[in-house]
Amino acid sequence: MRLKDKVAIVTGAAQGIGYSIAQRYLAQGAIVYVADIDGAAATSAAEKLGSSAIPVICDVSKKSECVALVEKVMNDQARVDILVNNAGILRTGDVLEISEEDFDAVLGVNLKGAFLLSQAAGKVMVNQEGGGSIINMSSVNSLLTIPNILPYNVSKGGLNQLTRVMAVSLAQRGVRVNAIGPGSIATDMLNQVMEDEAARHAILSRTPMGRTGKPEEIADVALFLATDESSYITGQVIYADGGRLGLNYTSPV
Ligand code: NAD
Repeated sequence: MRLKDKVAIVTGAAQGIGYSIAQRYLAQGAIVYVADIDGAAATSAAEKLGSSAIPVICDVSKKSECVALVEKVMNDQARVDILVNNAGILRTGDVLEISEEDFDAVLGVNLKGAFLLSQAAGKVMVNQEGGGSIINMSSVNSLLTIPNILPYNVSKGGLNQLTRVMAVSLAQRGVRVNAIGPGSIATDMLNQVMEDEAARHAILSRTPMGRTGKPEEIADVALFLATDESSYITGQVIYADGGRLGLNYTSPV
């Protein structure tokens, strides 16, 4: 019960990595707000997760919805201990062709959404006993350059900087801000990609451990960053990538 009576918001928690984090936090005694743009999916996820999981519809790219989410949690619980900015979307396209709409959509959810919700929850955290922990879901793609997902790469690079700047700004106000950088994690989205043998080979050959990660392996990092076991860690991006980024430093000789 490492999170007994803690109040957590996890965005994009209706499925995938967010769902797994919500599940891990609940198993450790937290109350978890399962926030997702897909209200029906959030409700059915919360039903599966149990009575301490509370579904909320929230589009994190909209300030009014982020503020309303934090207000709801404050009305219910009078505190917010943990915020996981996990909601994320991906759009593909050649760098010279990808649309303004796709660029804005990805930046709006992955980067601005994390900023808006961190600001709303941060205002609560700095004024409560015990402070808080904010965790942003970055990616190895915050550092890698993948030509057909430019907005995603840019959003995750920006998220790393958001993490560091907020961490430094809030370091003496009781709030820690960190990020997790997953490699290839077997969520529904990735499993579909892996059905294609060439894509499967490409993903596995660029992962030194030779396998994809499980959502639960990201949830373990999110649990560590939420607890006092990481009390002296702020402004960091922890990569859970099966060794993927290590390949950047591999020399053929
Ligand atoms: P997923 O697509 O399975 O789930 C994303 C969830 O976010 C969905 O439930 C969706 O409804 C929700 N969502 C989308 N837009 C939203 C919005 N505007 N407001 C609130 N919720 C919204 O994704 P996943 O694979 O579980 O990835 C979760 C996070 O991890 C993302 O930020 C992603 O970029 C990151 N990530 C994933 C991988 C991977 O391999 N799966 C790797 C690196 C990073």
